[in-house]
Amino acid sequence: MQLIPSLYIVPTPIGNLGDITRRAVEVLGMVDLIAAEDTRHSAILLNHLDIKASLFALHDHNEQQKADVLIAKVKQGLSVALISDAGTPLISDPGYHLVTRCREAGVRVVPLPGPCAAITALSAAGLPTDRFAFEGFLPAKEKARDDKLTELLGETRTLVFYEAPRRLLDTMAAIARLYGERQVVVARELTKTFETIHSLPATDMLTWLGEDDNRCRGEIVLMLAGARPDPDALPPEALRTLALLQKELPLKKAAALTAEIHGVKKNALYKEGLARGLDCSDEE
Ligand code: SAM
Repeated sequence: MQLIPSLYIVPTPIGNLGDITRRAVEVLGMVDLIAAEDTRHSAILLNHLDIKASLFALHDHNEQQKADVLIAKVKQGLSVALISDAGTPLISDPGYHLVTRCREAGVRVVPLPGPCAAITALSAAGLPTDRFAFEGFLPAKEKARDDKLTELLGETRTLVFYEAPRRLLDTMAAIARLYGERQVVVARELTKTFETIHSLPATDMLTWLGEDDNRCRGEIVLMLAGARPDPDALPPEALRTLALLQKELPLKKAAALTAEIHGVKKNALYKEGLARGLDCSDEE
């Protein structure tokens, strides 16, 4: 089999070296060049797979600049694979600029499916998976992290974060403070010897993690149940209509018309209008 000159996106194991697809091994064995985040780290995997390849360093700090070199190589007829230290490239890992530039330059990008810590964790968490929001790493600074967590309070999809072990306890304290009894799942060291997947309400999770340092060690995916949708919440479109109509009409009339247009309760709209401080001085 001969490879068509392309950029191949190749996921690698997130712990257990057995978790690599046959196709990934095949492609890594055939490409002319493998772009890797940390070439020394990837050399261990390639050695294990008995693959002798030329490695090319591509990381956050040189990606923009090296993208042109790799694109030129594919255009010359070479095949290039992109791997990261673990899991799927581009998922909280380098590769976004390279892939964007390849697509702009008309270079074929071939994605291979494979391991990803977020998806692996979700598949065993016992939280709804029909819709979820992957948030990557939370900001490192306390205020920015708390702002982000506050912004996500109303998110109804399951939330998935990557978290560094040294920050887990502090982050969990913030989550317990803001989210209270919301269900949290901590998935640690997936596919490895000390794999643990633990589920508790946020406040209990904080206590549980604090009881034993080992519970915060290793690689971690943190998941939160989404907010329960409020059955009485007014649809955002209705609130926009109300605000628009209210500019021209007294609140009572604006609420009645909005209720008719959107099929929601007039009283709820009227109360919302009052709560938002809409002027009702010209009420009839
Ligand atoms: N690209 C990778 C992927 O597809 O999952 C993620 C790379 S990101 C730099 C590394 C983070 O992924 C870790 O800090 C941790 O949050 C998560 N992670 C990676 N491997 C893991 C594992 N075996 N168990 C739990 N989390 C893991």
